Amino acid sequence: MILPSFRSTLPISRRRLLRRAIRPNPRSSLIEVPVADRTVHLKVWQVQVGRVPVYLLDADIEINSPWDRELTAQLYGGNQDTRIAQEMILGIGGVKALRALGIATGAFHINEGHAAFLSIERSREHLDKGLEFHTALEVIRSSTVFTTHTPVPAGHDAFPSPMFEHYFGGLFAAYGQHKQAFLRLGLDDRRQLFNMTFLALNTAAIRGGVSKLHGHVSREMFREFHGGIDVGEVPIGHITNGVHLPTWLAPELKELYHRFLPGRWLSNQAHEDVWKAVELIPAESLWSVHQELKERLIRLARANLREQRRRNSLPASQIEEVRSYLNPKSLTIGFARRFATYKRANLIFSDPDRLDRLINDPDRPVQFIFAGKAHPADHPGQELIREIYRLSSQDRFRGKIVLLENYDINLARALVQGVDVWLNNPRRPYEASGTSGQKAALNGVINFSVLDGWWEEGFDGSNGWSIDGRTDADWETQEKENVESIYRTLEQEIIPLYYNQGTLPFQWVSRMKRSIMTLSPKYNTHRMVIDYVNDAYIPSLKRTRLFVADGYEEAKKVADYKRFILENWHQVRISEVNDEGPRSTGGAGETLKEVNATVKFGPVWFKDTAVELVYYEHRHDGWHQVVLPMEPIRQLSENIVVFRANILEHLKHGPHFSIRIHPISASFARRFELPLVTRF
Ligand SMILES: *Cc1c(COP(=O)(O)O)cnc(C)c1O
Repeated sequence: MILPSFRSTLPISRRRLLRRAIRPNPRSSLIEVPVADRTVHLKVWQVQVGRVPVYLLDADIEINSPWDRELTAQLYGGNQDTRIAQEMILGIGGVKALRALGIATGAFHINEGHAAFLSIERSREHLDKGLEFHTALEVIRSSTVFTTHTPVPAGHDAFPSPMFEHYFGGLFAAYGQHKQAFLRLGLDDRRQLFNMTFLALNTAAIRGGVSKLHGHVSREMFREFHGGIDVGEVPIGHITNGVHLPTWLAPELKELYHRFLPGRWLSNQAHEDVWKAVELIPAESLWSVHQELKERLIRLARANLREQRRRNSLPASQIEEVRSYLNPKSLTIGFARRFATYKRANLIFSDPDRLDRLINDPDRPVQFIFAGKAHPADHPGQELIREIYRLSSQDRFRGKIVLLENYDINLARALVQGVDVWLNNPRRPYEASGTSGQKAALNGVINFSVLDGWWEEGFDGSNGWSIDGRTDADWETQEKENVESIYRTLEQEIIPLYYNQGTLPFQWVSRMKRSIMTLSPKYNTHRMVIDYVNDAYIPSLKRTRLFVADGYEEAKKVADYKRFILENWHQVRISEVNDEGPRSTGGAGETLKEVNATVKFGPVWFKDTAVELVYYEHRHDGWHQVVLPMEPIRQLSENIVVFRANILEHLKHGPHFSIRIHPISASFARRFELPLVTRF
């Protein structure tokens, strides 16, 4: 992890925990990373976060050149040269730091492509030990888990191929014979780029996105990469993100949960049963704690605004005016996050007059609290902030729409604990997961969001509200429909529910409870880590153990097998399909016919392949691919075999179904581990 100038930003109490991870002899305590034709030296710091040691790499040391000393000063910034050097520091330096610390490694988990060079470093280690290139790759693949986080192709790091070759010059001086093979691990053929996500995908047996929808989007995005198989078959899964409950839950609510939830509820937070007891919390108690948190937020917001005005040297009267801003009795809607343009922070302002009517309704007023930061290089994002600031300064919105500065984790915490409704209106499907809504949910703050990221699976119709609109129209239409949905839902559902019953809105509190009960057990880090352990880390460790046993025997076997298949696959051909075979009657009385496919295998053993009949079936929710395995029935010669499957009589080869063949192996981590599919 690279952190910007952490020594100055960490609070005192944390700073004491920060220490040099490798002390003894100052020379040998530095990590050396070859970057192009130079060496970047790194210090390693350790910070203890709960029970987890986190190691930080720091290039700000005298023996580095001034340019290199800046490499770990800023997360994003600089140019492609900065970026590739940073990623080499993270990937290569990261592995070297673990070695220097003597930390045994099992599985490596790459989050986003940024750290994927670690697979190259690990390959080099194995090559140094004398392992063959492809065997090394199998070992690495078996022990690597990759999580992608970005649903837009442009968000994935890629470098011109010659740049990659230049920066890894040291590696290729030693292992020039593998240069092309290394390059191919990340090569995006069409654009002649070395793509970090491709590198990660190619070197990880287990890969996934960060929500159900994002898994789907990733499968679509990397369909071509996997040889153009059906989207549903692309071997990328998902584990939905979750939030760390003790960090985000308000202490006052924690107290309340302690009183009504079963003992050990925090340890058992991933169990749905634990949260059913939320039903037992008296509405008055939940509401009064919520009001308390809201009042605290409003005090904080006013202090924030006063400070803003003081810093901008506004007259005293305008500083004092802030005291009357925001009303704890008004329905309060929060929007706080990075101001990336896809999050459309200004969407609610699309019809300022309609918004005016909501905000200034004398009986049922609504107020908005905004906070967030834009990336320093994201000028459209900064323009969004300016726009919201200008709007919030209009007379009609003053004190009812506020924009808070210095958005950080503390302000984020107060917001997700203190507002009534958490608004999220990203352009679908750009929000891979989103987590601030999860933080809000466990605090009884109700989500009102586009069905994107985690909310697409979290929303059940009763635990919040959705912002609707077509997802298959052009952006402008989608935006228009989302806007209409936002206003309509506010006017017809959210505001009436909030102001329904005087001082204690029972129905609102019921919805808060639904939100807490249904969402807390799923969208927490306990559940997430359990999923990663069961579905990623343990399978990965088991596979690694198998692959390295007996002098890497299994890894060698798999590598040899893949090489053989890759070299000979062009000889595998489906030579003939006959779909006029004998008729029979199926289980439901339907007429079936036999389809035969004749396959020439060349030197490939037919049992190392799967021959399948594939067609599409229309169901209520669209078209679905159906895959029927075909069974061998006749061997015509040593390498020609006839296969059979029975299908509905009316389906015809060509217009309705096709035959395909692809290599399989019990040692593959997944189907389509090799991107080879031959169709007919
Ligand atoms: C949770 C959090 C985020 C992420 O919020 P999203 O809605 O997922 O974008 C960003 N910044 C801070 C400070 C946070 O606490």
